[in-house]
This record gives sequence, structure tokens and C-alpha cells, in this order.
Amino acid sequence: MNNLSGKTALITGGSRGIGRDAAVALAREGVSVAITYRGQREAAETVRAEVEALGQRCVVLQLDVRDGAAIKNVVVEAERALGAIDILVNNAGIAVPRDLDSLTEQDWHDAISTNLTSAFLVIQAALPGMRQRGWGRIINLSSVAAQIGGVVGPHYAASKAGLHGLTHGYARFLAGKGVTVNAIAPALIDTDMVKGLPSGAMGLIPVGRYGTVGETSDIVVMLARNGYITGQTINVNGGLYMS
Ligand code: NDP
Repeated sequence: MNNLSGKTALITGGSRGIGRDAAVALAREGVSVAITYRGQREAAETVRAEVEALGQRCVVLQLDVRDGAAIKNVVVEAERALGAIDILVNNAGIAVPRDLDSLTEQDWHDAISTNLTSAFLVIQAALPGMRQRGWGRIINLSSVAAQIGGVVGPHYAASKAGLHGLTHGYARFLAGKGVTVNAIAPALIDTDMVKGLPSGAMGLIPVGRYGTVGETSDIVVMLARNGYITGQTINVNGGLYMS
């Protein structure tokens, strides 16, 4: 197990939910964190306060992950402020429920660009530093929807399934170079995102409750520490999908 003290992390969508908690959990391990937010600056600033109270450095950067040029700038800004990124958590995502009659081409493009293309672009921007130092951790927030379809719709399931291919592809190339690449597939974690899902979703979970953000952050920290797990999907799903 690696000691994470002194490492630097970039977490997209770190203003709330799973990303927020992961930022604070990594800070507890001695990691400096850069978080991005799309619109909720105030929420992001509360993360900065919490991280700094733990004695760690934090930068808060505005980013719409659908903007490739902005992604490059954010990585440069984060590295200028904190040093090279060691741990990347591709967390920003949207889940807009659609049934088969209401699903549009625009919904498809929104899901793919926000949930999948963004992860590719952030990895491409952050990877050179990791390769140069021979140490890196890339953690992609996927979903049980990639495995069982889920309740959001085909656009969301496809975007998250694509993350699994992305994870495998990078893991294969980077194995032996000190950089691990893994996915976490949660369901259903008690965040704003779950509030937008059809009612009755909790009834799908065998353990009978939603998961907590802390139960997901535990896995983020574990994957950040561990150098021998790569190309895997870790399920945090209350038994909804048993692999
Ligand atoms: P939330 O809706 O609570 O938070 C989403 C985060 O993503 C926010 O920080 C938001 O920023 C950011 N974000 C959304 N769109 C963009 C964008 N275009 N550009 C930049 N940032 C963006 O979601 P969760 O915390 O629940 O989910 C985190 C990840 O985990 C997502 O990828 C989600 O798909 C995945 N997941 C979650 C599950 C759950 O049960 N909660 C289940 C399966 C997967 P802002 O606050 O500024 O809007």
C-alpha cells in the first residue's frame, strides 16, 4: 500500500455528491486537491474550506467538462497551483432520465460528451506528467447502468459502458508504467443525482438502503493507494449487480 501523503489529486465535479466526499477523503490522506465545478461555486468553496481545515491545499476551478480546450487549461492551472497531478478522479457526470419515447439525439450527445468524452480528454491532459514520473492513479466513476441497463436510459448506460472500455484500454497501455486505471460502478448512492431518479428506485437495492458517499470514497482511497489493481471495475451497489 502506498502512502498518499504529499500526492496531488484532480477531481472533476468535486463540488458536491461523490466527488466532494472523495476530495475530502483524499485530503484526509494528506493529498492536495484540485476540484472542478460547473456552476455551483459556493458549494465548491465549502469543499475548499473543509480541505484547508485538514491542513491540505485546495484549488477550485470552474470547468464544463464538455469543453476540451477548457479541460487542458484546467489541468495546467491545477498543476501550476499544486504540482503535477498524481491521482485523477473522473467523476463529473449527468444522469437525465428518459424513456424510449422521449429520448432524443441531443440526450445521447449530452450523455456521451459529459460522461465519456470528458474522461478521455482529462486523462489525455493529465497523463504526460504521470508517465514522466512513473506513478499515477486514474479512477473513473462509471455506474451499475453499464452492467444492467439501469433506470436512467440507454444514453446513460452507453456512456458509462464506454467508460469501462476506456478504463481497460488505458490500463492495458499503462500497466508496467506505474499508472493504474480503474472504474468504480456505484448504485444507488445518496446524492442529488439519485433524487432525480424515478421513485421506487430504492426498492431495487438488495441491502434495502442507498449507499453513502463515504462508502464510495473508501474505494477511491483504496484504489489510490493500491498499485496492483488495474483494469478493474469495483462495484459499490448494495448487491444490485453481483458479478
Ligand atoms: P451529483 O449530481 O450529485 O454531482 C454531479 C457533479 O458533476 C457535480 O459536481 C456537477 O457540477 C458535475 N457536473 C455535471 N455536469 C458537468 C459538466 N458538464 N461539467 C462539469 N461538471 C459537471 O452526482 P453524484 O455525485 O451522484 O455522481 C458522481 C458520479 O458518479 C457521476 O459520474 C455519476 O454518473 C456517477 N454515479 C452516481 C450514482 C449515484 O447513485 N449517485 C450511481 C452511479 C454512478 P455542479 O455542481 O457545478 O453542477
